[in-house]
Amino acid sequence: MTESNVTLPIPSDTETLFVALGGLGEIGMNLALYGHAGKWIAVDMGVTFGDEDTPGVDIIVPDISVLTALGDKLAGVLITHAHEDHIGAVPYLAGRFKCPVYCSPFAATFLRRKLEDDGGSAGKKVKIVEIPSGGRKKIGPFEVELIGMPHSVPEAHLTALRSAAGMVVHSGDWKLDPGPVVGKPADEKRLAALGKEGVAALVCDSTNALREGWTRSESELGEPITDLIRSRDRRVLFACFSSNVARLNTIALAAKAAGRQVGLVGRSLWRMHDVASAHGYLKGLPPFLKENELGQLPANKIVAICTGSQGEPRAALHRISDAQHRHIQVEAGDTVVFSSRDIPGNEKAIGRLQNKLVAMHVDVVTDGTAKVHVSGHPARDELKHLYSLLKPARLLPAHGEGRHLHGHAIFGRECGIPEVRVAFNGDVIRLAGGDYEELTKVKVGRVGMDGDVKIALDGDALRERRLMRLDGIAMITVILDGKGNLAADSMVTLSGLEAAADEDLLEAAEIAVDEAVEDLSQKARRDDAPVEDAARSALRRVLRKQTGKRPRISVHVARV
Ligand SMILES: [Zn+2]
Ligand SMILES: [Zn+2]
Repeated sequence: MTESNVTLPIPSDTETLFVALGGLGEIGMNLALYGHAGKWIAVDMGVTFGDEDTPGVDIIVPDISVLTALGDKLAGVLITHAHEDHIGAVPYLAGRFKCPVYCSPFAATFLRRKLEDDGGSAGKKVKIVEIPSGGRKKIGPFEVELIGMPHSVPEAHLTALRSAAGMVVHSGDWKLDPGPVVGKPADEKRLAALGKEGVAALVCDSTNALREGWTRSESELGEPITDLIRSRDRRVLFACFSSNVARLNTIALAAKAAGRQVGLVGRSLWRMHDVASAHGYLKGLPPFLKENELGQLPANKIVAICTGSQGEPRAALHRISDAQHRHIQVEAGDTVVFSSRDIPGNEKAIGRLQNKLVAMHVDVVTDGTAKVHVSGHPARDELKHLYSLLKPARLLPAHGEGRHLHGHAIFGRECGIPEVRVAFNGDVIRLAGGDYEELTKVKVGRVGMDGDVKIALDGDALRERRLMRLDGIAMITVILDGKGNLAADSMVTLSGLEAAADEDLLEAAEIAVDEAVEDLSQKARRDDAPVEDAARSALRRVLRKQTGKRPRISVHVARV
C-alpha cells in the first residue's frame, strides 16, 4: 500500500461516509468507521492472528493512524460482540483514542477482564459505557440501536445507525438460528420494522456468502455429540473456541446425558466461563471441573473441553499432545473432537496437531466426518431472508476475504438489491445521502504485537527473524590487545545449524577468521569496522563452501 493519507474527508450533514481499517478483504481485524456531520464513530476494533510468516508475533492489530488523526472528531468506539476479531485490539490500542467504548453488558465484563490482563496502564483509563440488547444511545452524530442476533457468543448485535442521512445497518456477525441454545432467536419483527422505516444501506457479514442453504442450528448438535460420547470407552476431549458459550453448554449437557463429568482446560476458557456465568449464561449445568479435578477421574468418566482448536502452540491441546500438561493427558484409544472450523491460514498447524494425535492412536473427529460443529454465520438463504426483512437500498459486503465479498455482491444483486459495491480496507465510500461512490483512499496497515511491543510486519526486525529461522545464526568473537594484535584465538559459535556441533568445521572457521584479521594492516585493526568486515567475510566463505548456508553473522570485537 503506497497510499499514506491519514486524513478522512469531513462528512456533510446530509451524508453518511464509511471506511474500514480492517475486515474488508480478510476475515479478522474488523474495524469500520462511519461518519456524518463532521464526526465519526468506530464500529469494532479486532485483532487477527500471526502465522508462519510472522515468527514470534501471535497478535496483529490494525494500523489506526487514520482513527487517531480524527482526534475529538471520533465520538465513540462501538463493539458489536465479544469475539477477538471485533473486540481484541481494544486493550492494545486503548492509549490511542480518548472517546468511550460502547458495548453490551456481557462484552463490557469480558473487556474489563481483558484490559486487566493485556491493557497495561492505558487500559485502566478506558471508559466503558454499556448498552443492553434492544437499547438505544446517541453516540456523536448517530442514534444507535442494538438488536440482538444469534451467533456463537452471547449478546451479538446488529446495529442500526440513524442520522439525517437516513438509517444504515451494520449487521455484525449473525445467523438466523431458531434454536441458538444461548440467547434468543432473532427478533424478526424488529428487523422488519427497520425495513419499513427504510434502510439506506446494509453493511453485511460475508463469511458464508459462498454457501448455499441455511446454516444448521446449534440445537441440532446435542444429540449427535451425546451419541458420540456414549460410543467411547475412554477419555473424550473437545477442542473449541473459548468464546463459543453455546457450545460449552451443548457439550456439558451431552456429557451429563452420557454419564460423564465435564471440565475446562485452558485460561481463556475459564475467563469466558466466569464472564458468562456472571451474566446468567451456562445456568442449570453441573459445575465445570478444574483441570486437576479432571485429571483425578477415570478416563471413561470425563469430558475435557480444551483451548487449541486452531493448533496454537501455547494452547492446552497442543501441550496435552506433547505430554506437557500437568493434569491432562491423551493416550491410545482416547478421542479428540475438533468442535470448530479451521480458520483460513491455520490449516497447516491444525493438520500437524491432528497428525500427531493420530500417530498416538488417538481417534480424531472433525466436522468433516461427524456432526460436531455448526457455523455462527449466515449462509445464502439467511442472507436472502435478512434482505427481505430490511429491504436495503444499498449493500456493502463486509467480514470476508475478497472471494467472499465478491460472491456476496453477486448474490445481493441476484436478490434484487438496487445498488451493490465491493470495497476494501481504506476505500472511503459514500454510503448514504448522495451517490454510492468511492471518494478517496486512506492509509491502512497491520501492526504486530511482539510481546508487549509493536512491530512493523514489513520491517527489518521481522525480516531478520525470518532469515534467522531459514539460515540460522553465527557469532564471532575477536579479541585484540591494545596494539590491535590478536590477544587470543577467535571464537565462532553457530546456532540453528547442523554444523554447530562440527568441531573440525568450527576450528577451520576460527583459523580463517584469525588469518583474515591478521591480514589487515595494523592501522585498520585499530577500528572495529574493518575487523568485523574481515571476520564476517572469512566466516561466510567457509560456511558457504562447507555447508551451502548463509546464516546471519554477528561479530563482537573485544579489546583487552
Ligand atoms: Zn467476526
Ligand atoms: Zn463473531
